[in-house]
Amino acid sequence: MPFDVNLFIRALAFAAERHRLQRRKDAQQSPYLNHLIDVARLLCEVGGIHDPVTLAAGLLHDILEDTQTSPDEIRSQFGNEVLAVIEEVSDDKTLPKAERKQLQILHAPGLSQRAKLVKLADKISNVYDVAHLPPHSWPVERRQGYLDWAQAVAEGLRGTNGPLEACFDKTIQIARARISIDSPGVI
Ligand code: ZN
Repeated sequence: MPFDVNLFIRALAFAAERHRLQRRKDAQQSPYLNHLIDVARLLCEVGGIHDPVTLAAGLLHDILEDTQTSPDEIRSQFGNEVLAVIEEVSDDKTLPKAERKQLQILHAPGLSQRAKLVKLADKISNVYDVAHLPPHSWPVERRQGYLDWAQAVAEGLRGTNGPLEACFDKTIQIARARISIDSPGVI
């Protein structure tokens, strides 16, 4: 499918509007939108993905979990294909957090190709942030725990996209080194 700049810009504008009051948990409280743009950038620049549905889903991947947006709105604005990918990568928020995290590991291998790509880019972006722009309230153990979990999810995404997988491996390697520097006493 050729790159559809209209769909991409509409998704970007929609994400900017719906996430406008949200911030990341880092010390500088970066705009949440930065994370969404980073996911789209990784898909395009690292993964070589120009499929408009995947890129739009990358920008909108947290919209059902983290905003009041309904699936019907996504369907009417962006179509069934984009909605399907977003639903695949969205947790069931009625479940306890520990169970949701476990389900991400279990479900990763069975996701569609598009959902696997978005999930992989999302994990790269989050692992980078946990290492370099960590939530200020997170102790080192929690950051390491996040990396362990992200790695378990990413293992289920092997065979999806070589460059993105290599980027994940490199990012988590650097992240582990960075976190151990932040806490020299912890092995
Ligand atoms: Zn995300």
